[in-house]
Amino acid sequence: MKTEVITYYACSLCGAKSKNEEKIKECESSHIVLGGENDVIKQTFKRSGINTEFPEELVFVLPDNTEICYRHAWTNKNCGRKNQNGQTN
Ligand SMILES: [Zn+2]
Repeated sequence: MKTEVITYYACSLCGAKSKNEEKIKECESSHIVLGGENDVIKQTFKRSGINTEFPEELVFVLPDNTEICYRHAWTNKNCGRKNQNGQTN
């Protein structure tokens, strides 16, 4: 039996894999990571209804004034708060 060990590199941000290390370095540098100290984060809240305590939208304003908006969504049913009917959102 012959054994070959093949090294794969993986992008730490998106998980893309390649045997070509340079390709993965390019992949990592192509991602813009939000929330750095130069970004402004605007938060908007719902006025009524459920989950008014959490921001409904987060808008990241990058140093070049690009704005990227993310809307609230529960990623896991168990993360949701109980509503008035005792159901998880
Ligand atoms: Zn990547």
